[in-house]
Order: sequence, then C-alpha cells, then structure tokens
Amino acid sequence: MRVFVLGAGIIGVCTAWYLRQEGHEVVVIDRQGDAAQETSFANGAQISVSFCEPWANAEAPLKVLKWLARDDSPLLFRPRLDPQQWRWGLSFLMQCHDGAFERNVRQLVALGRYSHESLKALVAQTGIEYQRLERGILHFFSSQKDLDAGAAAANLMRRYGVDREVLTREQVLAIEPALASFAPQIAGGTYTPSDESGDARVFTQALARRCEAAGVQFLYQHDILGLDVEGGRVERVRVRDRVSGVPATLQGDVFVAALGSYTAPLLRPLGVALNIYPAKGYSATLRLRHPERASVVSMIDDARKIAISRLGDYIRIAGTAELAGYDTRLDTPTARVRCDALVRRYDEVFPGVADLSEPNFWTGLRPSTPTNIPYIGRTRLPNLWVNAGHGTLGWTHGAGSGRAVAELISGRRPALDFGFLGTSGCAVTGEGRQRVAV
Ligand SMILES: Cc1cc2nc3c(=O)[nH]c(=O)nc-3n(C[C@H](O)[C@H](O)[C@H](O)COP(=O)(O)OP(=O)(O)OC[C@H]3O[C@@H](n4cnc5c(N)ncnc54)[C@H](O)[C@@H]3O)c2cc1C
Repeated sequence: MRVFVLGAGIIGVCTAWYLRQEGHEVVVIDRQGDAAQETSFANGAQISVSFCEPWANAEAPLKVLKWLARDDSPLLFRPRLDPQQWRWGLSFLMQCHDGAFERNVRQLVALGRYSHESLKALVAQTGIEYQRLERGILHFFSSQKDLDAGAAAANLMRRYGVDREVLTREQVLAIEPALASFAPQIAGGTYTPSDESGDARVFTQALARRCEAAGVQFLYQHDILGLDVEGGRVERVRVRDRVSGVPATLQGDVFVAALGSYTAPLLRPLGVALNIYPAKGYSATLRLRHPERASVVSMIDDARKIAISRLGDYIRIAGTAELAGYDTRLDTPTARVRCDALVRRYDEVFPGVADLSEPNFWTGLRPSTPTNIPYIGRTRLPNLWVNAGHGTLGWTHGAGSGRAVAELISGRRPALDFGFLGTSGCAVTGEGRQRVAV
C-alpha cells in the first residue's frame, strides 16, 4: 500500500518508521526543510511515562481562573472570538472531575508504557543517540502544602501501577546533589525512577534518516493544502512546493494526518471534527558554564510548573501554556515575560551554573485535546487515519503512537487498553464509543 504520512514531527516520523517496518510504501510530506522543525524542536525533553496527569482535574477550573490575569502564570487562557477555542474550553471543563481524570489517566499510562517499550526497542535496534539519560524524573516542591498535594497525587498514581516515590528534602538532594544551594527552599519531592530524558529533535531527525535509508520518501518544503475526497474516500493530497510555488496532487491508498495542532483545521473541511487546540509553550536552552555543577536528573519545578533537562553541555528549561490560537511569535510582551521567567528561575535554582548571556528561546504549539489523550486511529473516511493531539506528551508517546497506528493500518489491534478512533472502543468507560464519531 502507498501510505502518505502528513507531517514530519516526532509523531509523523515514528509513524513512517513503523509503517515501513510493516512493509508499506511510505511518503512523508512536511512544509519545513527537515524533520522536527515545529513543536518537536525544543520541548522539555522528558519521557514522562509516570508523570502524565492531564491538565483537566477537579481543581483546574479554580486555578485557571486565578491565573487569568497573570502574564507569567503556568496556564494562561486568553479568550478570543474563536469557536474552536470555546468548544475546547467547554470540553476541558467537562473533563474536570474525578471520574474523567481517572479514565484519562488510565489511557495515558497505558499508552505511555506501550510507547516506552517501543522506544527502548527502537533505540536498541537503530542505535540512535540523542543525549538520552535514564535517570528518572524528579519533581520538587517548595512548600509543605504543595508537597502534600504531590504526595496525594503519587498515592493516586500508584493505583494505576505508576512507580512514583515520595521523598524528603534529604532524599531529593541525594538523587540530585546539584540542587544543594536551593535546598532551603525545597520541602520535598516525588520521583519516578523509570522515566527518562533526551533530545526529541535529535531523535526525530536521526529516525528520519533511518527511514530514508529504509526507503521512505520525504517531500520537505511542501505545504499541504488539502485532501480530495471522492466516493467517500480520500483520493489525493494537494500540495505546493514552497520553493518553486508549483502545485501538485499526489495519489495514495492511505493517508495519515500527523500535523500536530494543524491536523484539526486540515481535516475540518472533510467533516472530521477533532477537538485539538494549540497550547503555546516556551523553552530556553542555555549553554552550561559549569557542567560539573549542573543537574543530570530531569526535573519539574512544581512552583513554576517548568521542566529542566540536561542535554549534554546544555540545559533546557521548558514550560507554561497559553491558549491563544495559532501564534508562534517570540517577540510579544507576553512571550518575553515568559521566556525571561524561565531563565531567571533557572538561575535562582542553580546560581551561576549556566551562561545567561545568549539564551536560545523557542516556542511551540502543543496539539492539545481536553483530555490530553491523542486521537489515534481511523476517521469516518475509511482510508484517512489520524495520529495527532498529543498535547504535553508527544515525545513520551511518539514511538508507541507511531507503532500503534502502523499496526492498526496493517490490520492488527495493538496490545494496549486504549480508545483508538474507529475501533469498537476500549475497556475504558465510554471513551471508545465517543471517539468513533469523528
Ligand atoms: C514547551 C513545550 C514543552 C514540551 N515538553 C515535552 C516533554 O518534556 N515531553 C513530552 O513528551 N512532550 C513535550 N511537549 C509536547 C511535544 O513536544 C508535542 O506533543 C510533540 O512535539 C507533537 O508532535 P507532532 O509530531 O504531533 O507535532 P509537530 O512536531 O508540530 O509536527 C507536525 C508537523 O506538521 C507539519 N505541518 C503542519 N501543517 C502543515 C501543512 N499545512 N503542510 C505541511 N506540513 C505541515 C509541521 O511542519 C510539523 O513538522 C512539549 C511541548 C512544548 C510546546
């Protein structure tokens, strides 16, 4: 079968890899000149199978309300005259109760485990190097109240088989001694030893090269303009070469949309209604002046909700979310406040360790769903598949999502309890049924 994979982020490239392994002819199309140039470019670098709670929980509405007016708040909702934003917001609110939280966490844990296994096997098979650190993820808290909440979350997550320990301040420092100078401001932490970190861009690009070597064709610098439907099936993808401006239509048997946040607008004209909305996030990558004093364990600073990950001689600080449409500007006042806050906080926790003179700022749009669960599977058009909406966890779930969609396209049910689109549902209450309709 000739399969077109639309999008060369972590999700599209992993999809292409596994489809090729299944023996399909694969063509990947992307508007950029290389893989992983958009949201997969400079994310928080965490493979967080065990830190996977969705944003939507019973306390979220109050927190979001409190944060509304603050430019530096971890989650910022900027109301717009945009029906998609309101649809997303309302669905998000409907997920803010314990029943939905539990249902969503179960699926995120299942996909995370499957993905972690897939990633490990893929790395063993290909030998790809991407600054991988198998040191776990450490979550540190600055107040006893927040630590208590973190400990309660750890207890809850253990119910789903997640391996998350609660730590005293001394135990936090034993796991990451580089935090020593910040110790007085650490109340304690939680730790998931099986989690990992590594550079998503480096991994994705290396995998794209392996795909090419295995016979996958990459059509970079091509805008995808739309899909032509005939007789209830997608017949062609319409593209335009960004360099020459020349348009073309390409015929295929199967199409997989893996365009991150842009998947929803591309498929909307076909009547495929995906509730994916962009959540803008930022990162700062700093060169280390004193690598010997820098952390190696990937961490989350709970007070600021930011991730800190070591990437060789660099440190990546990432976080915050802004629901404000498809805006990737870094030169707005809000963007400046948010980027500066990342650097300032890093220097507060690790004084003098990084060179602050040339921060490398970046922004990306998390393809967010109200549940944080991605859409993986078949749409109502039988040869149109989706692998999108991975929100905060696309790097974590990339390998598993790619493998799962390739298995589904090849006629096999992946071995995990997950509400794949277009299937008869999963054991998780209602989710599968609801998802058949898109
Ligand atoms: C600040 C931040 C921190 C994060 N930290 C983490 C983390 O620590 N761990 C984790 O697991 N996840 C993290 N994420 C989430 C993760 O980065 C995303 O979920 C993931 O990158 C999404 O991958 P994707 O392939 O779906 O999208 P993308 O990487 O955006 O890929 C989509 C591709 O489609 C192409 N495209 C789009 N529209 C068109 C078109 N019309 N024509 C042609 N091509 C098109 C784009 O060029 C792009 O290459 C973070 C995200 C952000 C923003």
